[in-house]
Amino acid sequence: MIKLEEYIDSLDKCSYCGYCQETCPLYISELFEPYTARSRINLIRSVFLEKSWPLSPGVLKIIDSCMLCTQCTRTCSGRVPIDEIVIAARSEIHRGIEFKKMVIKNLLTRRSLIKTLVNLGYLSQKYGLAPKIMPDLPKKTFEQAYSGTYSPAGKPRARVAYFVGCGTNFMFPDTGKSVVEVLNHNNIEVIIPPGQVCCGIPLMAQGDLQSVVDMVLSNVKVFEKLEVDAIITDCTSCGMMLKEKAVRLMPKDSDLETRVTKFSGRIWEVTDYLSSVGLVAPLAPLTEKYSYHVPCHHGWEKGVKDAPTKILAQIPEAQYEEMQYPEGCCGGAGTYFINHKKISQKIRARKIQSIKNTGADTIVTQCPVCRYYLASQLQGQRVIHPVSLLAESYNVKG
Ligand code: SF4
Ligand code: SF4
Repeated sequence: MIKLEEYIDSLDKCSYCGYCQETCPLYISELFEPYTARSRINLIRSVFLEKSWPLSPGVLKIIDSCMLCTQCTRTCSGRVPIDEIVIAARSEIHRGIEFKKMVIKNLLTRRSLIKTLVNLGYLSQKYGLAPKIMPDLPKKTFEQAYSGTYSPAGKPRARVAYFVGCGTNFMFPDTGKSVVEVLNHNNIEVIIPPGQVCCGIPLMAQGDLQSVVDMVLSNVKVFEKLEVDAIITDCTSCGMMLKEKAVRLMPKDSDLETRVTKFSGRIWEVTDYLSSVGLVAPLAPLTEKYSYHVPCHHGWEKGVKDAPTKILAQIPEAQYEEMQYPEGCCGGAGTYFINHKKISQKIRARKIQSIKNTGADTIVTQCPVCRYYLASQLQGQRVIHPVSLLAESYNVKG
């Protein structure tokens, strides 16, 4: 379990150099020193470890303001795991909020409940009763349409299990359909096992770590018995959670740690997986100009950031136009854009301008929240998962 005491050595490595300012979307937007990583983590040290500063509403606001985007960890000279320190502090704070925790946990661990809400949400939108902040919901969730084993026409060259994230399941089932079709088209068998739950990242962001442990173990139980070459995810945030964070939440040197390590070792982001095994099916030309928004949570595996452009470059005639700041945050950050509307919109405005400057028709990104949040501010440019562009080239769009 992530505990603040475990990060004392890491906190000591902060030299106040300020490199974390350069990449923090929040600081770049607000130019407010308390919002920098160095100020936040040193405030956390004073409040929770040294107990030399009170946990005031102002302190809570500063801890809550972090987007957990991990951008600062890439420029931090001391390699301080800033996001994990913020999560550990939130875990201290959120211990008391039992009712809210219970409601959210029940929703995220019981997908049948969310499925019912999505089905009701779809009807509310159809009849104009839903609030505008909600994305357009599908008539059926991905798991209502897809479950079980999907085999290619020929002999499979590999077999993968598909971890279906909540974004694909409840908002963008078209991504899931493209993933299955593209993998099958490339002679890869896909298993979608029942019983999966949310990866846990929304609760980790709130500091409810015990619930995250329960969710990780539920998913491990579902996947560990499957004989597959890889467990793929189409979402970079689910990937970060399952590949990098899950094992850190387990007790050290325990059986659970061993089981989760095995599970995490098989996690691949789908475009990275395709780039690694190679595409075998010939791609048809697409007269498409596309650009790529790199999701913040790409650093958990070195191939994830460049895999989409590597595989999409193989589509004949499709033209790639790099945007300015491709790795710049879009401002969505999970549910951050709901609770920090103004800041998120300011961060998004910069991104939207760089997207418009490309003149691209299509923006690809592996994060469903980025997809929703960017698309809601773009006209005449669509935002899709990179695998969906491959599916179009194969003419196998789900
Ligand atoms: S995680 Fe993101 S928002 Fe938080 S301090 Fe780092 S760069 Fe800034
Ligand atoms: S970049 Fe890292 S070491 Fe430097 S001030 Fe920021 S948190 Fe501290």
